[in-house]
Amino acid sequence: MPARIIDGRAVAQALRAQYRARVEALEKKHGVTPGLAVILVGDNPASELYVRNKIRACGEVGIRSELVRLPNDISEARLLGEVDRLNADPSTHGILVQLPLPPHITMRRVLERIAVDKDVDGFHLYNVGGLITGSTIFPPCTPYGVQKLLEHERVEVAGKNVVVVGASNIVGKPMALMLMQRDATVCICHKLTRDLAQFTILADILVVAAGVPNLIVPQMVRTGAVVIDVGINRLPDGRIVGDVDFEGVRQKASLITPVPGGVGPMTVTMLLHNTLRSAERRVGILEEPSLASPAA
Ligand code: NAD
Repeated sequence: MPARIIDGRAVAQALRAQYRARVEALEKKHGVTPGLAVILVGDNPASELYVRNKIRACGEVGIRSELVRLPNDISEARLLGEVDRLNADPSTHGILVQLPLPPHITMRRVLERIAVDKDVDGFHLYNVGGLITGSTIFPPCTPYGVQKLLEHERVEVAGKNVVVVGASNIVGKPMALMLMQRDATVCICHKLTRDLAQFTILADILVVAAGVPNLIVPQMVRTGAVVIDVGINRLPDGRIVGDVDFEGVRQKASLITPVPGGVGPMTVTMLLHNTLRSAERRVGILEEPSLASPAA
């Protein structure tokens, strides 16, 4: 039987409806509207598109957003000054610096300048380090989105063999740490891994984030595995595909995410989540309100 397809759009929509209710509750009870500031340096068309999507998503759930557009030749000192201004602004609960930054700017210096309690992308070293101990304030959005999808589909992680293909700082590595924190047995593969298939075939849960179309074909996948495809690749004919041979692997897996419509919609949703949590924590709501009573 072909795998059940995980509908990331539907899960994202359901979560956003809950977040909208929580934003309204926050406004009513505490007079606070969550605010996200997005810093965009230069005019990279891909970055423009990502930023537009994030701002539109904020509007959907009632989060206030501020787009700070800065010229490509801005000095690092002025950019850091903007971060300082937003750090000090009480109506800003989350700060995001859209990457990549121009080469004359040291990305790490900028990310480290963001106040840790506003670092909704989870890229500050404090939040990165917190992944080791399970005490991060803001989990990074893409792996967090994958975790939420697994939770939503009630996929048990503890004791499972998880193979993560891709070892980047923003997806593969944090993904592996988050799953280790949940007691999975985790293996990370990357572009120098010899004989990728001998690892992937062991996976009960296979998470692929390499950026290589058709990297994972059916013979590399264990029958009944859960397959999460994070990859986003544009083919020469304009089609968007993931890293997994979807039609082939679907015949072997038990659960699979499509591209588009799988992990993608969850990434921005987790940005909304992190911004909302930041505002909730600021007014003293320390525990995440439960699904049953989103307005609690
Ligand atoms: P990256 O280029 O920073 O890292 C890619 C990783 O994959 C590296 O660790 C590399 O060693 C590994 N890799 C490359 N070729 C490989 C191969 N042949 N075999 C095994 N491993 C290989 O990329 P990234 O930022 O981690 O993104 C990965 C993919 O996920 C891209 O397609 C990107 O567009 C996509 N992405 C999607 C979302 C989303 O919201 N769905 C978010 C971020 C990234």
